[in-house]
Amino acid sequence: MDPKPHHHRVVLASGNAGKVKEINQLLSSQQIQVIPQSDFNVPDIAETGLTFVENAILKARNAAQHSGLPAIADDSGLEVDALNGAPGIHSARFAGPEASDQANNDKLLEQLKDIPEAERSARFQCLLVYLRHPADPTPLICQGTWEGQILFQPQGENGFGYDPLFFVPDHYCSSAELRPEVKNRLSHRGHALRELLAKLSDKYPLP
Ligand code: IMP
Repeated sequence: MDPKPHHHRVVLASGNAGKVKEINQLLSSQQIQVIPQSDFNVPDIAETGLTFVENAILKARNAAQHSGLPAIADDSGLEVDALNGAPGIHSARFAGPEASDQANNDKLLEQLKDIPEAERSARFQCLLVYLRHPADPTPLICQGTWEGQILFQPQGENGFGYDPLFFVPDHYCSSAELRPEVKNRLSHRGHALRELLAKLSDKYPLP
């Protein structure tokens, strides 16, 4: 990615092109250019933490170490109350190490098959962290939450992951039926990103 003049460069600890685009759109107003870690051949790191925030910090530190730039990482997932918070940090791999979205959704529906509507509350969580350098002792930590309910069958084609099963009460549809800009406004990731933007401009004002 070509450097943008007068922009701070920050590495993003994710290879997900959609996330890079979404985060760039928000941060470019702050004159921050987000570069994917693949541009620096950053090797993947095992997500050995027991919480979203630990895993986000592990990923950000790894990216900062290998790129020499400040780093942003996000770790996100779905918490289902009837499953004591599962799949949680295991959301991407709920049905196995290389599980597809379909397999993860099928497993979730199976585990909730006897749970009535009133007990199907759930939320998406997104933890975003910003490290100035690999040894930064005070990372910026932002958390976004999105409350909803798990449906009995998938609905909608947009989004990814558990979106077809995530019912959004205020819009009376699943998150896979929302337009992307509406999802970004409401979602856990949107909230966490806007919090990060506010904290960055507060703590690290541009010259
Ligand atoms: P990751 O942090 O990008 O690895 O996401 C973890 C997993 O949580 C994803 O693979 C999805 O299964 C789930 N997830 C996170 N955010 C969303 C979302 O916005 N919609 C649907 N599923 C999500």
